[in-house]
Amino acid sequence: MQLIEGLQTDLHIGGSRRPASSGERFDVMNPVDETVLASVASGTPEDAIAAVAAAHEVLGAWGRRSPRARADVLRRAFELLDTRKHAFARLVTLENGKAGGDALAEINYSAEFFRWYSEEACRNLGTVSQAPASGARILVQHRPAGVGVLVTPWNYPAAMGARKIAPALAAGCSVVVKPASETPLTMLALASLLEEAGVPPGVVNVIPSRSSGAVVGAMLHDPRVRVVSFTGSTEVGRELLKTAADCVVNPAMELGGNAPLIVCADADIDQAVEGAMQAKMRNLGEACTAANRFYVHASVKEAFVEKFVTAMGALKMGNGLDAGIDVGPLVNAQTRDKVEALVRDAANKGARVLLGGTRPGGPGFFYPPTVVVDVPDNADLLREEIFGPVAAIQTFEDEDDVIAKANATEYGLVAYVFTRDMARGLRMCEQLEFGMVGLNRGLVSDPAAPFGGVKQSGIGREGATEGMREFLETQYVSVVW
Ligand code: NAP
Ligand code: MG
Repeated sequence: MQLIEGLQTDLHIGGSRRPASSGERFDVMNPVDETVLASVASGTPEDAIAAVAAAHEVLGAWGRRSPRARADVLRRAFELLDTRKHAFARLVTLENGKAGGDALAEINYSAEFFRWYSEEACRNLGTVSQAPASGARILVQHRPAGVGVLVTPWNYPAAMGARKIAPALAAGCSVVVKPASETPLTMLALASLLEEAGVPPGVVNVIPSRSSGAVVGAMLHDPRVRVVSFTGSTEVGRELLKTAADCVVNPAMELGGNAPLIVCADADIDQAVEGAMQAKMRNLGEACTAANRFYVHASVKEAFVEKFVTAMGALKMGNGLDAGIDVGPLVNAQTRDKVEALVRDAANKGARVLLGGTRPGGPGFFYPPTVVVDVPDNADLLREEIFGPVAAIQTFEDEDDVIAKANATEYGLVAYVFTRDMARGLRMCEQLEFGMVGLNRGLVSDPAAPFGGVKQSGIGREGATEGMREFLETQYVSVVW
């Protein structure tokens, strides 16, 4: 328990730390050795309402600060996080398990949201126009929507929060964050850093809780809450959308994915392998953007698979805190068991496991980089989010067929296409029913780009100008002068 100096483990409400009103706590595990890292306060619905009250109390003052003043605070948050990135990355690895490189990339990505939205805070532009018939003027401005409830998953303990907090603060909103129970420590530390950067007490509150449904439900039923921004599973997202409907709260939903990765006959194979490694293995496959279904043109299958298996086989698995480790443990036993079951199901249905496929003994939720080919259409591996280091490969012959297969999912977050022919690539992008496409790239996430999905993958966008809109309400003034 003394592993981490200065660790925050209590609720963070109105700038002070306090235990849960019930006195309850829960354990946070280190997935590398299944030991307890810390015991964290488990907020109750009453605590959550206290956090909403704290956020509401400072909402007006924060929203009335000049955009430049809010921008300066966000800029300091970027600088502080950048300065302390190694300590934050270590904390991410400790509670999530991911390798050091992945953790550092996550912190850099998180910091970039504070930088980007420090710039966007001063670009909240309205319009003035003339009513076509009446002669009145139409003044449109975008104002802070109100208190936001932010619910985040465990796969990016810092970034999924930063991607919501930064635009909310830029817009002039105050927030209550409910981090995932697997990984609340990073968010508690980030809240302290934000206050050090000059975020006034109460503007960012954090309520870890083992009773997530009751806590989030109570907050959404509080009329002071105007936005719910959620990242997590489609299943929980649907529940939150129902509550948001009852309470008429603005929803922003970043949900699950089932990304296809298409390698065309004319692809640059080295580029495709590099992109595939990023799209599959970034964050150990524990990403909503992870390539879930590989469709490789039959004419290049052998060349692609050979190089891809070599690259996957070269990855080093171990404790993410150690130097040179590419692959840490998965976050928990449930996630590891699901990955294992998906591979077993595919193998039972006739797929061939070319690499990995067997979990090592000993403590820690490890599962090795795994490549499975000849995956039959009825394998669960192609339908469910794998959320682990397993590549499921099929071949295709015809462009229209592969587009139809890629689109044959309820999800629509991201797709990847590799081809040397840009006209073909762009044509395919237009036919793919996904909110984002990586064209000859295995990484689409960027603070300056609108991240988000269509279909069951979500509603709304994070990042870019769009991300701030989720925390703004439009007001129009009709005036004659
Ligand atoms: P999850 O089970 O949906 O949990 C996400 C968050 O919701 C956690 O904070 C969780 O709290 C909370 N939660 C659970 N049940 C709730 C309820 N009934 N009411 C309110 N809140 C509730 O998802 P996960 O297992 O942490 O994360 C994996 C999923 O997230 C995957 O499906 C992945 O695709 C998705 N994801 C999507 C994106 C994206 O941007 N589209 C990014 C990352 C992850 P507890 O931890 O306390 O249960
Ligand atoms: Mg969960």
